[in-house]
Amino acid sequence: MRDKLFIDGQWVAPVEGGTFPVIDPATEETIFQAPAGTARDIDHAVGAARRAFDHGPWSRMPGRERAACLRRIAGIILARKEELARIEVRDNGKPLPEAIWDMEDTAGCFSFYAGLAEEMDENPEEAIALSEPRFSSKVVREPIGVAGAIIPWNYPLLMASWKVAPALAAGCTMVLKPSELTPLTALELGAIAEEAGLPAGVLNIVTGLGPDAGQPLSEHPGVDKLAFTGSVPTGAKIMAAAARDIKNVSLELGGKSPFVVFADSDIDKAVEWIMFGIFWNQGQVCSATSRVLVEEGLYPALLERLVEEAAKIRIGNGLADGTLLGPLVSRGQYDKVLAAIERGKAEGATVCGGGQRPAGLNTGYFLEPTILTDMAEDSFVWTEEIFGPVVCVKPFRNEQDAIRMANDSRFGLAAAVMSKDRARCERVARAFRAGIVWINCSQPTFTEAPWGGYKQSGIGRELGRWGLSNYLEIKQITAFEADQPW
Ligand code: NAD
Repeated sequence: MRDKLFIDGQWVAPVEGGTFPVIDPATEETIFQAPAGTARDIDHAVGAARRAFDHGPWSRMPGRERAACLRRIAGIILARKEELARIEVRDNGKPLPEAIWDMEDTAGCFSFYAGLAEEMDENPEEAIALSEPRFSSKVVREPIGVAGAIIPWNYPLLMASWKVAPALAAGCTMVLKPSELTPLTALELGAIAEEAGLPAGVLNIVTGLGPDAGQPLSEHPGVDKLAFTGSVPTGAKIMAAAARDIKNVSLELGGKSPFVVFADSDIDKAVEWIMFGIFWNQGQVCSATSRVLVEEGLYPALLERLVEEAAKIRIGNGLADGTLLGPLVSRGQYDKVLAAIERGKAEGATVCGGGQRPAGLNTGYFLEPTILTDMAEDSFVWTEEIFGPVVCVKPFRNEQDAIRMANDSRFGLAAAVMSKDRARCERVARAFRAGIVWINCSQPTFTEAPWGGYKQSGIGRELGRWGLSNYLEIKQITAFEADQPW
């Protein structure tokens, strides 16, 4: 594990010399002291990124050369996937097979954006048809400059890749600030970039606390673009900081995503997708299936099945064979989720399953998969993101009712619908006010497809070609082509 910051291609101790503890959420043991970067380290990192951008070669080299480097990064991640996944399990708590999957997705993200970097060479400019024939016009796309990326803890390396890969593909340089709860694999990414031959200063990694390292990055005048994933309150601070000197900003924030299940659905499939949607990664997923709406006729049977299946989930240390649900990421998150369940009960919700620390697991931030019903539509648990293995289930009367309830949220990240009637699914999919909509499934995420939310779930889209656009400026070049005077 790396105990230094990665700045300008060098491993350096934080200027102020501090550290912060990294805790294994399954054992509550401190496993590492990570370097605590502060404003002075951020300043050095932004300076390095600025020089690397302004003086090249990264921002000016052909896309295929950047692509070759991104492909080497992907290859190293794949070769080290098991080792990186084990680090991530100790950092975050998730079951090892999930962490290995995350590493494969991370490598896939670097390969995908390598492909888009190559495509940039094939289509360097786009002609624009003007209404005025004496002029010609074209559009070229250029890297936006120095990007600052601030990311959360739920998918530590994968969330880094969603920003680092497109930014580097575009020709930007970057300062990455991972979450203080999960800094370990981000630091490994520095070593991977070094081994892959990424030029010094192109990617800089500063670990540290949000107010000490994240805030100075968001406020730094040398940063041209801020890319943030995290909570709504922090997103609002990032946007305010960006407003001071009009930085380009993209935000991926929280969610309270509904899953509408019509009565003609296959009950086994519905329960399977609901469980995947809310218990995967301990429910610490921005798009988690946290509100399930079930048509009245199916509601009692589905609820019974869900409670039965959830009780079978094997809970334990993410490194133990057969674990399906690990601990929550931190003491703070654990207390927050337990407090939400208590608040739900106080406001009238019924706990149909789970809600407790599992018997026999006295250490670690473990919580049973939890199913709540009978909550009011304006209650805390129905309206606010809990970010844990807690699902709220409610019946609905008809399609119109379901759409109204699904859209009655300040969030709009994801939504899902299940029915054998495909036309109905399409109709409901279009009626959802959400950036990601699944039909007859919930959560599958593809690097090629856009990711992001409506309303308070964020601004902009990551992944796919939309993710690359986040890091590109559009320049119009117009020429006067006629001989006669204007
Ligand atoms: P958070 O907002 O607490 O922290 C996110 C990052 O911001 C961390 O790196 C943190 O150090 C940093 N930070 C904290 N205060 C800061 C400040 N004042 N200035 C700058 N940076 C600061 O969020 P979290 O608890 O790490 O993550 C959970 C949240 O992230 C949930 O709300 C979840 O929905 C959201 N999330 C969204 C997506 C998505 O794609 N939409 C993906 C994953 C997580």
